[in-house]
Amino acid sequence: MTDIVRVRFAPSPTGFLHIGGARTALFNMLFARQHSGVFILRIEDTDTTRSTDEYIEAIIEGMKWLGLSWDEGPFRQTARFDIYRDYADRLVREGKAYYCYCSAEELEARRQEATAQGRPIMYDGRCRELREPVPGIAPAVRFRMPRDGSTVVNDMIKGVVEFDNDQLDDLIILRSDGTPTYNLTVVVDDVDMKITHVIRGDDHLNNTPKQIQLYKALGYEIPAFAHLPMILGADKARLSKRHGATSVTAYADMGYLPDALINYLVRLGWSYGDQEVFTREELIRYFSFEHVGKAAAVFNPEKLLWLNSQYIINSPAEDLAALVIPFLVRENIIGKDEAVDRAWLARAVVTLQERAKTLIELAASLRYYFHDPASYDEKAAAKFLNDKNLALLTELHESLSGLGDYSTAGIEAVFTALIEKHTIKLGAIAQPVRVALTGGTVSPGIYEVIEIIGREATLRRLGRAIDTIRGTNPA
Ligand code: GLU
Repeated sequence: MTDIVRVRFAPSPTGFLHIGGARTALFNMLFARQHSGVFILRIEDTDTTRSTDEYIEAIIEGMKWLGLSWDEGPFRQTARFDIYRDYADRLVREGKAYYCYCSAEELEARRQEATAQGRPIMYDGRCRELREPVPGIAPAVRFRMPRDGSTVVNDMIKGVVEFDNDQLDDLIILRSDGTPTYNLTVVVDDVDMKITHVIRGDDHLNNTPKQIQLYKALGYEIPAFAHLPMILGADKARLSKRHGATSVTAYADMGYLPDALINYLVRLGWSYGDQEVFTREELIRYFSFEHVGKAAAVFNPEKLLWLNSQYIINSPAEDLAALVIPFLVRENIIGKDEAVDRAWLARAVVTLQERAKTLIELAASLRYYFHDPASYDEKAAAKFLNDKNLALLTELHESLSGLGDYSTAGIEAVFTALIEKHTIKLGAIAQPVRVALTGGTVSPGIYEVIEIIGREATLRRLGRAIDTIRGTNPA
């Protein structure tokens, strides 16, 4: 075995990349990066009835979106069937595996009998000592499990876990149609790819003693194991669709930042003191299996949303501007291929990033920077777009159109002059202006809004509000 750390993420492409899989991939990647090792992506597509190319693409897309980058692969197990068959043949030749001629129907009948009698469901070893082939039947290949003693898994997270060998089945490693099964392919590949640490979900812990026996039979060194505790929903049932979105793509679509999801995933089962927010560099530096909990982790969507809002608040506005563009398209705020001035958009984003919890919210809140209000909030219009404010809005319109320095400072000076002249408070003028420019009474600082919307649109919107007042209140 090499000294270099080599780890792998080995998804079965029978669904999208989900929260649990992404966390497994993340822990593998962090461990590899921490040790300047190699992270391998291996697609376990041996179940050809359930695996699809679409799922492979979706998994890869999810990993790329999260920034989970691998160094070797993606390898596909379906391209390696010959290799698995060679290993199975070798085990048969060495007497460590044997041909089994029991039919599916016979096995099923024996399984039912065992269940009825309350016995564990295990192969009864009928073909174990068979000397002659049974003519006319294509056999499966079974691994000859030791019957005595026990197998110890020394897990980096769970500690020492011991399994009695008489509880381990003589598992099928090659089906009668010649296709290999999971426990064979995983061991062959982990050997072939020189994997040093197997990091995966603890739903595979029961497979580990079987795999260790396969390593021993093949004469290979056993890698280190780290079995990650499951992720549960709030009701302590295994995380599933019932608990809401579980696929990584769904979170991308809902306007989560990849960094926020990464940060959330790493904290599902791992901790570093009280720290909640980590940069990627910190994660690589601090990550360790010592601080991965033994117990299952509970998925908390509210906390993920909170983290996302923290990431939105703390992200550079230029980054958010780039990320929010597809959402502006989706919200019909801009056209699909419409050019947007990124620097301008970043200035608009700065005014709103403290209030948005997702990129969808951010996009929606940006609407008035692009478009005149389609309508006014009814209550707001009744309260602020009335005769009382007509003179004020008209004066502001005049001052802004003649303003030499159209900057937030220049705009502020205009407001200050109006406030002093009429001895009013800022709100008395800011609120009607907000309604005129945004349609409602809630917006960031009014000077910034006026400046970012720009003179032309601001004057047009003020003019429209003035017309509205005149129209509803004819002189
Ligand atoms: N393909 C297996 C799964 O998706 C993972 C196997 C492993 O990591 O050993 O559950």
